[in-house]
Amino acid sequence: MSTITNGAAASFDVPRIPALRNRLRDNPVSAPKRVLLAAPRGYCAGVDRAVIAVEKALERFGSPVYVRKQIVHNIHVVSTLEKKGAIFVDEVDQVPEGSHIVFSAHGVAPTVVAGAAARNLEAIDATCPLVTKVHREALRYSRDDFDILLIGHAGHEEVEGTMGQAPERTTLVNGPGDVAGLTVRDPDNLVWLSQTTLSVDETMETVRMLRERFPNLQNPPSDDICYATQNRQVAIKKVASEADLVIVVGSANSSNTVRLVDVALENGAKAAYRVDYASEIQQEWLDGMATVGVTSGASVPEVLVQEVLDDLADAGYADVKQVVTAEEDLMFSLPKELRTDANGEADSRGLGGRTKRLDWQ
Ligand code: SF4
Repeated sequence: MSTITNGAAASFDVPRIPALRNRLRDNPVSAPKRVLLAAPRGYCAGVDRAVIAVEKALERFGSPVYVRKQIVHNIHVVSTLEKKGAIFVDEVDQVPEGSHIVFSAHGVAPTVVAGAAARNLEAIDATCPLVTKVHREALRYSRDDFDILLIGHAGHEEVEGTMGQAPERTTLVNGPGDVAGLTVRDPDNLVWLSQTTLSVDETMETVRMLRERFPNLQNPPSDDICYATQNRQVAIKKVASEADLVIVVGSANSSNTVRLVDVALENGAKAAYRVDYASEIQQEWLDGMATVGVTSGASVPEVLVQEVLDDLADAGYADVKQVVTAEEDLMFSLPKELRTDANGEADSRGLGGRTKRLDWQ
């Protein structure tokens, strides 16, 4: 067991999980070694809901259940669900007619929904409600004859799903570098929307440049960058301002994870690395580093963070202080297709709280 201190007062015990131990050496550094553990980190409400949706679909309908794209962008989550009987596909035409298919947390374009219906697939929509909110905004603005500038990353599944809501009215803006080359139909009927998992600071810079070019550009009715992305960036900013090195747990295709590395480097960390697993931490990353910051992306089970803490403890970083910048208690209800059990009774299985659960691997 190790003890994580939560600020000056509260503390709680975290069970150690057997991992590849004693791989890292406890080399001396010039100051006391410590870990600053960012909070919030890890699972958000949308990821929790999507993963539970696949688990419940497997329980209810049996294996296989097909999932279009990775349910969430984390290789550990995906491989674990594969072992339980999920089959991940790129497109609905790879799924046998009449099967169950889950749409991922990143959302889908209407053409994907139509393609699933054409194959008589039983679709379970695990799109995060905060992504659905952006879809609705896109539809509403297009009906009101607006053009939409969607700030996001080309090729990301969420961006494809959002652009697909109003493809004839939406232009993708990858970042500040795209602004000068944009052409729009009517600069007075223009709104910007965004992907939910971007860097807040970079997005605001893009918006500032857009507004210089298009002074009547409208803002979305509320933040599109979601609460989880924002909270994790605020927490890592605080950690990075005191840390020498920051380790971000998460997968390479996880947008919010990769942004955490960027934000750490922009806010004081001398170095920042992303790892899927603790075994990827390199001995030389720790050379001369007294304070190591640790966080994880919104699709990362806490067990993977615990393994990082275990390995860091082997290297002498056993003093772990949690840096808390927000409390999260948001929960979403299950996708409507799973809200009743096989007998038609309401399914009351709770959502949320996975950030604190260690028993899911
Ligand atoms: S990161 Fe945000 S938008 Fe994405 S699943 Fe989590 S809560 Fe939803």
